[in-house]
Amino acid sequence: MFMAQIEFSTTNAPDMHNAAQATNGLLAAWYHNGQTIDCGEIFVGPDGGIRTWVSIPEQTALDDANNGKWVNRALSELERCGANVSSTEIVGKNTEGDPVCTCEDSTALLLFASLVSTGSPVLCMDCGHALPIYKVPPFESGSHETLRCWNKIYKACDTLWIYSQTGEFFALREMARLDSSLTRHGRAVCEIIEAKMGIPTFYYLDRGKSRRNIWREQVWARERARRCPSCNGEWLLPESVLPFVDFRCDPCRIASNLSP
Ligand SMILES: [Zn+2]
Ligand SMILES: [Zn+2]
Repeated sequence: MFMAQIEFSTTNAPDMHNAAQATNGLLAAWYHNGQTIDCGEIFVGPDGGIRTWVSIPEQTALDDANNGKWVNRALSELERCGANVSSTEIVGKNTEGDPVCTCEDSTALLLFASLVSTGSPVLCMDCGHALPIYKVPPFESGSHETLRCWNKIYKACDTLWIYSQTGEFFALREMARLDSSLTRHGRAVCEIIEAKMGIPTFYYLDRGKSRRNIWREQVWARERARRCPSCNGEWLLPESVLPFVDFRCDPCRIASNLSP
């Protein structure tokens, strides 16, 4: 992840309020297209120029080639208000950020999120890193809103589960059960991604953490014998493909983890 400084020229803007609003519109559009990790805040300098700093998933994230329909509309609106992007500069690297996938051809994708994930929820199952959202073709609406919506709700459920004060078991059921509303939503997202990208796309069913004694071998044996909750087929992998993927059912496109 990188930090970019973006400067906007407002020399031809007759109304600074409108120019600032259009700038915020562009920042929101970039964010929703996955080209930025956050929306940033804008600062107006004494010369009227607008400046902001945003986190981006890779150095080329803000290239025009990555713009979706709504980013191009926001750029047109900015221009209509007499402003434009005058410069973008990479000013640093965020070593804490999630790396992005650089594989030439991923063989499988996984829809996965957590309380602490910051980037895209579409992971490459070969390298375990995320595909920036702008590399996933837009959905029917021309945006990735359905995908982003699932991501936010999943992270909200993981937050309830981790903090364990309110709604924790509701949240776990949503993340773990095949028939939950969250799972149905996520599997529909996976189907769309697979249809658009032609890459098998799996949905992650979180097994959660048990409060039972993890050292009891019979508990592990029972867990390893767990079958696919959709087709009842065998789905334990010979070895984990990612640190948290121990089960994978190819026909059903679901994956899960071992948890005693
Ligand atoms: Zn990869
Ligand atoms: Zn299955």
